[in-house]
Amino acid sequence: MDLGIEGRRAAVAAASQGLGLAAAVALAAEGVQVAICGRDRAKVEAAAAEHGLVPLVADVGTPDGARRFVTDAHRELGGIDILVPNAGGPPPGRFADVTDVESYARAFELSCLSTIAMCVEAVPAMRAQKWGRVVAITSLAARQPIPHLILSNTARAGVTGFLKTLAGEVAADGVTVNSLQPGFHGTERVRSMGVDASSIPAGAIGQPADFGTIAAFLCSEHARFITGAAIPVDGGASGGLQ
Ligand code: NAD
Repeated sequence: MDLGIEGRRAAVAAASQGLGLAAAVALAAEGVQVAICGRDRAKVEAAAAEHGLVPLVADVGTPDGARRFVTDAHRELGGIDILVPNAGGPPPGRFADVTDVESYARAFELSCLSTIAMCVEAVPAMRAQKWGRVVAITSLAARQPIPHLILSNTARAGVTGFLKTLAGEVAADGVTVNSLQPGFHGTERVRSMGVDASSIPAGAIGQPADFGTIAAFLCSEHARFITGAAIPVDGGASGGLQ
């Protein structure tokens, strides 16, 4: 299927590996010009060279760094039609482990405020041109809190509320705003955690490339009527009705 986005311009954050890179590669395969960022110059340049992407060095763990990534991508690409907010996840821990309230503030910067900053920078121009796509990579933790991830559970709930509100405000301008909620996928981060697939109804952890294809579809012309959605991509792992 032709996704109808050839020639569009995309900024995909935190994408020198993992799910961000998978989304960037899937978009590039559709003829989208894609700028990615990472904190490590050598790593982001190697990933970009391998897949024909534009490398940018940025730390999107703070609102300032996130905003700078979008400004740099805008300059390099001549505009941004598609934004994929993403970052590494906050550290694990239960309530009793995380006694420093500052840890919650840092998690909010990383997993909530940085996405807000990217949207503040990119969405007004999308509205003005009457076309745009925001597909944020969040987590299954936003749908179903994960017991040992209290920082992620808290910050992801906040960003999901922001994205839903934004979606309603900009829908009439041709801008869709959605999030993808990954369950376990075979990225470096998850492999290092040694995840057991027996708790996943599909019986296996997900393939990053499949995740990337879903992200690209949400950016497509055909997906223009999907907005305000927070979609689990989890092999059936989440248990609730919504
Ligand atoms: P990953 O560690 O494999 O890749 C993350 C990428 O982001 C790396 O390239 C890293 O260098 C870059 N990065 C991290 N922090 C950054 C920062 N502050 N600024 C710029 N670049 C940064 O991770 P992943 O598995 O692809 O996860 C991506 C997101 O999805 C994370 O928020 C993670 O919590 C969430 N998630 C992933 C899974 C999964 O199964 N992979 C499951 C649930 C949620």
